[in-house]
Amino acid sequence: MADVPRERGAAQARARELRREIERHARLYYALDAPEISDAAYDSLMRELEAIEAAYPDLVTSDSPSQRVGAPPGELFAPVAHATRMYSLDNAMDPDELDAWLARIADAVGDRECPFVCELKIDGSSIALTYRDGALVRAATRGDGRVGEDVTANVRTIRDVPLRLADGIEAIDVEVRGEVYLPKASFARLNSEQDEAGAVPFANPRNAAAGSLRQKEPAVTAARDLATFMYAVASPEALGLASQSETLSLLRRAGFHVNPDVMACADARAVRAYCEDALGRRDTLPYEIDGVVVKVDSVALQAELGHTSKAPRWAIAYKFPPEEVTTVLREIRVQVGRTGVLTPLAEFDPVTVAGSTIARATLHNADEIARKGLLVGDTIIVRKAGDVIPEVVASVPGVRDGSERAFSMPEACPGCGGPVWREAGEVAVRCTNVACPAQRIERLLHWVSRGAADIEGLGEELVRRLVETGMVRDVADFYTLSEADLASLDTGRVKLDGEPVLLGGTLAAKIVASIEASRSRPFARLLFGLGIRHVGVTVAEALAGAFARIGAIQSASLEALASVDGVGPKIASSARAFLDNPDNVAVLERLQAAGVVFETQVGTPALPQTLTGLTFVLTGALERMTRDEAAAALKERGARVASSVSSKTSFVVAGDAAGSKLDRARQLGVAVLDEADLERIVATGEPPASRA
Ligand code: AMP
Ligand code: ZN
Repeated sequence: MADVPRERGAAQARARELRREIERHARLYYALDAPEISDAAYDSLMRELEAIEAAYPDLVTSDSPSQRVGAPPGELFAPVAHATRMYSLDNAMDPDELDAWLARIADAVGDRECPFVCELKIDGSSIALTYRDGALVRAATRGDGRVGEDVTANVRTIRDVPLRLADGIEAIDVEVRGEVYLPKASFARLNSEQDEAGAVPFANPRNAAAGSLRQKEPAVTAARDLATFMYAVASPEALGLASQSETLSLLRRAGFHVNPDVMACADARAVRAYCEDALGRRDTLPYEIDGVVVKVDSVALQAELGHTSKAPRWAIAYKFPPEEVTTVLREIRVQVGRTGVLTPLAEFDPVTVAGSTIARATLHNADEIARKGLLVGDTIIVRKAGDVIPEVVASVPGVRDGSERAFSMPEACPGCGGPVWREAGEVAVRCTNVACPAQRIERLLHWVSRGAADIEGLGEELVRRLVETGMVRDVADFYTLSEADLASLDTGRVKLDGEPVLLGGTLAAKIVASIEASRSRPFARLLFGLGIRHVGVTVAEALAGAFARIGAIQSASLEALASVDGVGPKIASSARAFLDNPDNVAVLERLQAAGVVFETQVGTPALPQTLTGLTFVLTGALERMTRDEAAAALKERGARVASSVSSKTSFVVAGDAAGSKLDRARQLGVAVLDEADLERIVATGEPPASRA
């Protein structure tokens, strides 16, 4: 990375150049899906810009890509009047209604040509982005169509939203409209995190997107993985755009993320064909759609057709039939999660929805069951929320025969019989017994799961046996299992002759090999595997990215943890509490002693090089890390570590019984730091303020 220019003018010029280049690469990556440089090279440009802005804070501009994250909420949620009304759309609920609309359009245009554009109807939340002189100045929700809410700070965190329009179209003042959405995979992940945190899950990706936009903390929005598809400008005529097709291509050139799944349709027949085709592809798309929007292409015809009081006459939303099916709710079983949360699970007769068979759905908590009025034995309506998560929508009370029974949450933990507890202000009920075997098994299963340490061959049944036989009590015990132990493990099943079935050598060898391989899984996944409350995949990645080593996280202050993007005070205190718990510390130590590597490994992206240009000298004995570890941690952030003190030394870190080097530092007036200072620098990457 280049050094920060010493002269302000040069710094300003360089920052401008960097911003333009970073935005160009972001556009190549997000809008055009054609990156020209590696992620690492992109990160390095970003770091250089951040270094300049750190050195010259007054050079920071609101449209700088560095401002995508963590900008203060400011005018968050203040009312915003839309330049022109943001209309809703009329719906066609079935093919007949679509045909009726097409016929009305045909009537109105007579024998003139009337091509259409068909777009997928993204199930998200509408957004309006205002650009002045090519820079994003405001983002607003639709609200009631006339007045929306200011969500600029949050929208800046969405990576595919250009903060500046592309070269060539820069000077435009424009209001661009489109949809903010959450991809299906992110929605599924977000909801599992909500569940784990005992928070109310989102009903569908649309609510999740809208909820994520309206976060008070932009960092929370930033962690949500939102994306956009933009499809309109407020006044196409003013920009000389003659058609919706032209609008889409202008938006694409300007750097917006425009859905490539659009179709120019010459006539009604082509429109029907596209609608049918889109319905067929619905399940395979990575985002949720609830229909197709058919638009008259010509802006002149659009103007002629006009609007009703709430929607344009020139467009229609052809809605897909909701994929909901009825089945019978057989049982509500209560599961104990690894954090002790008791979760009711609906078990129903298997049915096929959106292309796959489902037989179970989480009911989240007792409130949810009460709200839906579900009785065991009810005929229920099920669907897949966001096309992925099985969900019980409602019961059909009309067909009850009196045999149905009400469900109540158990008073005791179904795993251990211990007391359960409902925290004030939370919907979740928890088992408070730390030794609860149900929780233990869930914790162990979480560690071996694919997204974590990924140990193959260790399924639920086997883990249960290992716990029952006392061979495994915590995750570190997996690493003490020998092939011989496993091979002779009694699986709990018996042969016809009454002999117990043992696990056997082949399977044992496979499991041991997989346990071996799990020692070097990516740091973020191992961190996630620990099962710290509120630390889902996303948060684990953020922490691993910010700290690189478990030691750094363990010694980080609450504030340092909370300042990581996407973390915040609640997650930080949960992590602190977990890492301060002596039982957990002991497990971590045993894991590390067994060779499990809790650090970012070579090949994974480097940490921000915030200590570039600084030279450290270490002297004396440190208490909580070796000198080699300290040197490695400093170098990881770009610092130099020298063995003797000179006038070029930036800092001397003095441990216990520091000798001549400390004296020399004092003679030369070099700043001296202690171990606590060092830990803070290593954890946060922030160079110390005072320099002698
Ligand atoms: P509804 O909220 O069901 O009345 O549908 C209208 C909403 O559909 C609009 O306000 C947009 O937010 C949304 N929408 C999603 N995709 C599109 C699209 N391609 N064109 C126009 N509107 C869309
Ligand atoms: Zn329990």
